[in-house]
Amino acid sequence: MVDDLLERVRRYEPVFWKNPYKMPAAEALNQAPLSLKDVEDAFHRMQRFAPFVKKAFPDAKYGIIESPLVPLPNSSELTRLVPSPFSGPLMLKEDNYLPVCGSVKARGGIYEVLWYAEQVATTEGLMKSLFETEKLYSEEARAVFAKYRLVVGSTGNLGMSIGIMGRAFGFRVQVHMSRDAKEWKKKMLRELGVEVIEHEGDYTSAVAKARAEAEGDPRAHFVDDERSMYLFLGYAVAALGLEAQLRRATDETGYGLKVYIPCGVGTAPGGIAFGLKALFGDRVEVYLAEPTHAPCMLLGLYTGKLDQTSIYEYGLDGVTAADGLAVSKPSTLVSPLARVLIDGVFTVPDQFMIDMVKWLWTTNQIKTEPSANAGFYGLHDRAIHLVWLTGGGMMPDEVFQSYLEMAKQ
Ligand SMILES: *Cc1c(COP(=O)(O)O)cnc(C)c1O
Repeated sequence: MVDDLLERVRRYEPVFWKNPYKMPAAEALNQAPLSLKDVEDAFHRMQRFAPFVKKAFPDAKYGIIESPLVPLPNSSELTRLVPSPFSGPLMLKEDNYLPVCGSVKARGGIYEVLWYAEQVATTEGLMKSLFETEKLYSEEARAVFAKYRLVVGSTGNLGMSIGIMGRAFGFRVQVHMSRDAKEWKKKMLRELGVEVIEHEGDYTSAVAKARAEAEGDPRAHFVDDERSMYLFLGYAVAALGLEAQLRRATDETGYGLKVYIPCGVGTAPGGIAFGLKALFGDRVEVYLAEPTHAPCMLLGLYTGKLDQTSIYEYGLDGVTAADGLAVSKPSTLVSPLARVLIDGVFTVPDQFMIDMVKWLWTTNQIKTEPSANAGFYGLHDRAIHLVWLTGGGMMPDEVFQSYLEMAKQ
């Protein structure tokens, strides 16, 4: 028998897959190695670091790294642009405007740096209590942090979050960039004193290079996007902020909430989904968006092979304008959890993401990079819809202009 879904995936045709392995939220969460308590602890750690963040990044109000939730008023026009009919209120979570690094990585990446800084500061006796984070913004503390190194593999945005926050403490930072990484992201990091190493290979191989580089060095911390619980928890904290925003934004009951999030390796959308399901239970459905050229989570979940498969096995090239999503193999930590937690996965043509950069800008003056707006493509049914925008706020003007020119019409 010909497998219709795999055939369409092989031909780079967009697909929408409802996940038959999804369990009720409570059951799925039981299979996770983490709990809501861990998410709350992560939230408290972020709060403790607010005085540091406020000093280092004045654009983060009160030192809190959060983004607006806004309604998209002229959403009816969108029905022409997306494949399925949908209705109901539509909201945007603007992680493209997160302070510090302008992408969703400001949640996971930054949280992991804060966690590590706390470990080092405690070991080195830089704080008498965990609440003295303000003291870490000083020359003495920088001299101590400079003895330690953060190492990470990235398609661009994770490197930015680790690099920018890592350098704010004075850590040495080494970022291994995959071939997809954009020039402006490398340049910005180098200007901050980050060591940027460029690789010819894809994301998975850049991560492997970074892992090998950090191994055996007790003063190096490898930020592991395939397995890290810290990254995951940093993303999950988003659910706590959203809960309060949603209560303010909507008192509509009756329909469920459908959330659409772009997916690369799966740490960001998986962490957010975990937080949302822990807080809202089965009232929230979470759908992941992947480029037609790099649907690694879809393939991992659909075939049941999880991280033991890759897009290359299906003849796909992984070449996409959505650099943040150009990933060949899903996360080892997240894929088994996504299998029982996530409501569905859909794939998105590159041209749609590029066209949406222009549409969002011309209709609403919202600035995104192509990876960031893939979620729109999966809108379906009647619900309260929440499209998670994930990056682009820090794009230089000329790069943004080039996307506007690539868009149709
Ligand atoms: C990293 C990233 C994602 C997806 O996150 P993963 O953890 O790789 O799944 C989505 N959008 C943007 C803009 C990103 O940088």
